Amino acid sequence: MSAAPGPAPHLALCGATVVTSLDPVSLVTADVAIAGDRIAAVGTAPAGVPRRDCSGTLVLPGNVCAHHHLYSALSRGMPYRLEAPRGFLQILQRTWWRLARAPDEPAVRLSALIGGLEALHAGTTTVIDHHASPNVIDGSLDVIADALTELGLRSVLCYEVTDRDGAARAAAGLAENRRFLARPRRLSRGMVGAHASFTLCDDTLRACAEAASAAGVGVHIHVAEDQADQQDAEAAWGMRVVERLDRAGMLGPDALLAHCVHVTGQEAAVITSSGAAVAHSPRSNMNNRVGYSPLARDGARVALGTDGIGGDMISESQAGFFRAVEAGAATDPGWPVRRLAEGARIAGRRFGEPLLGTIAPGAPADLTVLSYPSPTPLTGENLPGHWVFGISARQVRDVIVAGQLVVADRRSTRADEEKIAQQAAREARRLWARLEEIPPHPFTPKGRCLP
Ligand SMILES: [Zn+2]
Repeated sequence: MSAAPGPAPHLALCGATVVTSLDPVSLVTADVAIAGDRIAAVGTAPAGVPRRDCSGTLVLPGNVCAHHHLYSALSRGMPYRLEAPRGFLQILQRTWWRLARAPDEPAVRLSALIGGLEALHAGTTTVIDHHASPNVIDGSLDVIADALTELGLRSVLCYEVTDRDGAARAAAGLAENRRFLARPRRLSRGMVGAHASFTLCDDTLRACAEAASAAGVGVHIHVAEDQADQQDAEAAWGMRVVERLDRAGMLGPDALLAHCVHVTGQEAAVITSSGAAVAHSPRSNMNNRVGYSPLARDGARVALGTDGIGGDMISESQAGFFRAVEAGAATDPGWPVRRLAEGARIAGRRFGEPLLGTIAPGAPADLTVLSYPSPTPLTGENLPGHWVFGISARQVRDVIVAGQLVVADRRSTRADEEKIAQQAAREARRLWARLEEIPPHPFTPKGRCLP
């Protein structure tokens, strides 16, 4: 058994089929010993270490959701009484920008708890979130970080800076990012959040890039999710979105660009050469009928995010695979698995943990144990086939984050889930009632700052 130096192991997962790496896929039958917050060894568990029987299971690196909006967690099933939206901009004006105006602090907290639990139960151990709550900006990232820490979930958080709610809220959003970045936590890191080119003036764009550069992090921003973003950039700024972000100093290896649906080949090349990561959200793109990103198939650093449609990265990766096949991409079942490995590399970069997403001595112990007594032979070679056609979040039995068993036998070890569900149901009713009073958001792209 190869071992890393450090504290004595406190837990050994025994007898599992262990996926030690998703890119390239590597699979062994072994015990995994955990010491402190990391993997101590992969091989035969040393004597005297508390053992957890994992025979008949598949142990995977924990999944990373590279683009989430936890604030949407209480929106499931909410009524919609306005005229049906026509197009992407009206979807934002009539649903998401209204919803973002509705939460108070308890709603922000309950959204994080509900969304965080959902992610953990699906085997997602890190959420990279993009938060908006223009009526509760100051301290909102702490509320989310506290809630997720309570559950034992790892996170990378940011506040969505935008000019659509006026200059004061844009400044408050920027200040919230700076404040949160100044105090990294054990399980939580920050980025600088920005909405999208079409709701940001040049000054605010530059301020976001400067705040990120000063903190040594990247900007997490929506890029060309819809053609409307490109139309605004060309009409108001005389250039394409990617050029605008590049000139503002936003691109680089720490940047996280969500969607990148409507990018030209030249823009895709600029993104790739900058080293920026792309978060592809296939289910959201299909749901909003915005199109299909050319980078999903060909991008160098493409990870997957749910864009607020829950925290289940197994489902997201399967949907992404089927969408890629439908789009005519020459895609093998290894594609979704490699995309999830990229998500872990993005999170690992923010935590200074290059081994995050692998099960190897010295790596952070973020793992998922699936009950998966495979009905057919399972090898490293055919794991992607099992992933796409056999694996499901329903099989997630245990989840370990930073060495701690946070879900055991399908139950959170940290939270009273029934109590949270009851609180969330109450909070959702309050949120939905407030939403009824909020009209469609008046912002339309003007290519300049709102007064
Ligand atoms: Zn998004």
